[in-house]
Amino acid sequence: MALGIGGRTCRTCTLCCKLFELPHLQKPAGRWCQHAKPGVGCGIHATRPGECATYACMWMMAPNLGDEWKPERARFVLSRDQVSGAMSVVVDPAQATAWRRAPYEAQIRQWAGAAISAGGQVLLMTGRKVSVILPNSEIEVGVLEAGDSIQLIHDGARFHAQVIKAAAA
Ligand code: SF4
Ligand code: SF4
Repeated sequence: MALGIGGRTCRTCTLCCKLFELPHLQKPAGRWCQHAKPGVGCGIHATRPGECATYACMWMMAPNLGDEWKPERARFVLSRDQVSGAMSVVVDPAQATAWRRAPYEAQIRQWAGAAISAGGQVLLMTGRKVSVILPNSEIEVGVLEAGDSIQLIHDGARFHAQVIKAAAA
């Protein structure tokens, strides 16, 4: 994990070490990394992989998000794709509904509405399962592979999500 804006640090938070998939460590999404010391830090801090050393969740990078958004307290991680800029709400499968608690759900749905208006999406990630968050509901999409993208289509009554496979893009 990197140093955040305004000097924010992970301290006792280790949640991304559980929630994210790290293929070269053979670590699936939603299970603790073999090197993690939950609530303490990384057991191989000095030699941790580069992607761990440089990663910073949105709480680390957005000082306007209060301490209630710190992942160890919220029990989910807000993450932004460094290439597309798309925002994800990455939840702990053991506490998959934590994001629905106040004040989180109302704010997340507001972000989702703004993202859709701008042609984007806010994704809900539970393990490898993906849903698109809408202002009043979610659409389950399933498991995406690297490079896949989602197109939201509104048919005049409601939204539908179509997966664009990376090979076909
Ligand atoms: S989820 Fe954020 S605050 Fe928590 S350990 Fe990861 S980068 Fe640090
Ligand atoms: S190597 Fe360390 S920083 Fe990376 S996921 Fe495992 S415990 Fe976390």
